Amino acid sequence: LQERLGSILNNLTGRGALSDADVAAALREVRRALIEADVALEVVRLFTDRVREKAVGAAVVKSIKPGQMVVKIVHDELVSILGETSETIDLNAPAPVVVMYVGLQGSGKTTTTGKIARRLTDRQNKKVLMASLDTRRPAAQEQLRQLGEQVKVATLPVVAGQSPVEIARRAVQAGRLGGYDVVMLDTAGRTHIDEPLMAEMAEIKQAANPHEILLVADALTGQDAVNLARNFNDRVGLTGIVLTRMDGDGRGGAALSVRAVTGKPIKMIGTGEKMDALEEFHPKRIADRILGMGDIVSLVERAAETIDAEKAAAMAKKMQAGQFDLNDLADQLRQMQKMGGLGSIMGMMPGMNKMQDQMAAAGLDDRMFGQQLAIIGSMTKAERKNPDILKHSRKKRIAAGSGTDAAAINKLLKMHRQMADMMKAMGGKGKGGSMMRGLM
Ligand code: GDP
Ligand code: MG
Repeated sequence: LQERLGSILNNLTGRGALSDADVAAALREVRRALIEADVALEVVRLFTDRVREKAVGAAVVKSIKPGQMVVKIVHDELVSILGETSETIDLNAPAPVVVMYVGLQGSGKTTTTGKIARRLTDRQNKKVLMASLDTRRPAAQEQLRQLGEQVKVATLPVVAGQSPVEIARRAVQAGRLGGYDVVMLDTAGRTHIDEPLMAEMAEIKQAANPHEILLVADALTGQDAVNLARNFNDRVGLTGIVLTRMDGDGRGGAALSVRAVTGKPIKMIGTGEKMDALEEFHPKRIADRILGMGDIVSLVERAAETIDAEKAAAMAKKMQAGQFDLNDLADQLRQMQKMGGLGSIMGMMPGMNKMQDQMAAAGLDDRMFGQQLAIIGSMTKAERKNPDILKHSRKKRIAAGSGTDAAAINKLLKMHRQMADMMKAMGGKGKGGSMMRGLM
């Protein structure tokens, strides 16, 4: 695959905007990569359509090849579908928070219940109670009890003859009476999806009112994971997904598939049989794994750097011409956020202390980035281009939209004006460009 992608990158030539042919050629290889990574066919189609739409006509920055540009777009789109950031188990509800695990037999529900219980106990100091609702397999409840002993997490005492729903009710009640933070319900699976299973899950859900319903799915099942996820999501409703056996030779395709068909976040991944083999899901890493190669990753990074460098050059030009508008300011704020805040950036550049002081005086500090981006985000295109048109009524609208007030907006506008003036002055001396390039 690396070779194949490599050859496209060399073969595609031409400059300017990406043509249909450029994109089609690159997407043929991307499609093959996705299928090799075990992404479900319907998701492959959906995904390549989305990329095609984004890619055709996209500007190709000067110093990279069209094929590289497509790979960059593919990579970004993968990360965007997989979720930009990793999400964790949501315990933001009145205690005891009920977490229910669903999935097929052998997918790793019981193991995952133990792993997550251990993690919440050790890392977040939570008091967790686990209950096995698996009355179908004789040894299932005993399996969870032993796991509980191993990871030092309480399990609900087994009472013979109760139905899964009855056990669920008892678990929630025991959780309440015992002052537990979290109650985990480890349900029974089947070898395949069927109506009795779904009915049982729906009934348990109704009885226990879980805050999280996590589908535990085996990453090695690739294609099948799609139907599984869709069925459970339609019938029971999921809040998230845990993919197990990510330590196996699966290529991460299941992750893209289940995420794309359910829209639900992948919250954790299982990476082995041991109780500590549980990791947060990092979309970027999985995107890299799906594309299947270190080379592509560095290639994507190089493309991103090139794009940033060209952006920086364009920005410097704008500044010198005195055209630094609020869009540019938003770009700058985002860049600074990415690079670890104002101090670290300014600290790297000689002679920037004065500018830092001025920005601080104008109210720009690291904590303010989010608020200021929100303010700019609530402006119209025209307002961002030309802040002079911002009069009282517009400011009121923007304040409401960004959850701020007129004072915060005025502060931002003042800072922008000062920065623009300063940049113009520096530009006049022919220095602004290189300094701002350093800034980015
Ligand atoms: P359940 O039927 O869904 O409750 O599945 P279990 O939790 O009993 O797990 C079935 C088997 O899969 C056990 O042998 C587990 O050790 C194994 N298993 C679970 N999660 C993982 C994982 O992330 N990686 C690997 N390699 N094995 C796992
Ligand atoms: Mg089990």
